[in-house]
Amino acid sequence: MTRIAIVEGDGIGHEVIPVAQQALELLHHEFEYFPVDVGYGRWEQTGCPCADGDISALKTADAVLFGAITTPPMKDYQSVVLRIRKALDLYANLRPVKGDSFDIVIVRENTEGLYSGIEEIGPDRATTLRVVTRTGTERIVRAAIRCAGQRRGKLTIGHKANVLKSDVFFRDICIEEAKKAGVTYNDKFIDALALDVLQHPQAYDVIVTTNIFGDILSDVSSYLVGGLGLVPSANIGDRYALFEPVHGSAPDIAGKNIANPIAALRSAAMLLANLGDQEGAVRIESAISTVLSSGIMTRDIGGSAGTREFGGAVLHALGRDPAVR
Ligand code: NAD
Repeated sequence: MTRIAIVEGDGIGHEVIPVAQQALELLHHEFEYFPVDVGYGRWEQTGCPCADGDISALKTADAVLFGAITTPPMKDYQSVVLRIRKALDLYANLRPVKGDSFDIVIVRENTEGLYSGIEEIGPDRATTLRVVTRTGTERIVRAAIRCAGQRRGKLTIGHKANVLKSDVFFRDICIEEAKKAGVTYNDKFIDALALDVLQHPQAYDVIVTTNIFGDILSDVSSYLVGGLGLVPSANIGDRYALFEPVHGSAPDIAGKNIANPIAALRSAAMLLANLGDQEGAVRIESAISTVLSSGIMTRDIGGSAGTREFGGAVLHALGRDPAVR
């Protein structure tokens, strides 16, 4: 039986993930869904944000649907998101940004770079080690090349090799692999690339870059489609896969029934596509389009519908009574 772990996490994760879970349940009632409670809320209640047992539970799932987790900027608090990505070795973070005239996938390295977790804070100095390995770079660029091969076949390498030696290393390995694979490629400095993606999004197909640059570039690119409430992502490794909105736990709007559930719904669609159900993925996307074209939208994209109302309309479009719990 296909088993889906559901991690609502913190903040608006508790609002948007139930909508996405119900869409999955509607299309696949035969799947088994089981909750895994990790995050800052869990830490506040128990002093432990994520136990070894939670990681083991996630590893028993065929796929994980994940909301977002609050990471408080506290010296001794270890990021649960980073721990899960490392423990499940989810090295490729695919973030599609798609509009009427453009269709981009940002492929972000997800396990090393500036998010290596090797850091320390002293009284007068703080350091974070930016680790870029050959193995890590080869596998992410190969994932990006495979992705480009299923699309328009064009790879752009984003880096800051003019300043960072670790990015000279990253860029050169990416170019080596692109040449070997015979894929069309170019490379750009990440700062210029961020502006160019906004000005000429149609010029891009697949963009591969390091961890923090991919994180920032995808938030910036979400501007092209209406903001963070709309952009999903897939975190893929060789054994495990986790699907989550690009946005975080959004504490400023949590509990207000105003979060946009589209990114979570699209993450559920990516989850289905990854399990081989392309038709289910298309049905979720079509239901979202139907609701948007009927004029029902959440506040972040100019409407007045609440999370539950918008979610209910999407579920209704998917063929069910619009009762969102
Ligand atoms: P955020 O993405 O949570 O929010 C940024 C802005 O976008 C906020 O104004 C928020 O209201 C808005 N927004 C986000 N999602 C929205 C939605 N679905 N609908 C409407 N508006 C939406 O980023 P942040 O404020 O920088 O971070 C908040 C917390 O989330 C932090 O603790 C951060 O560490 C965490 N975070 C977690 C993840 C993750 O779990 N993968 C990712 C990013 C941030």
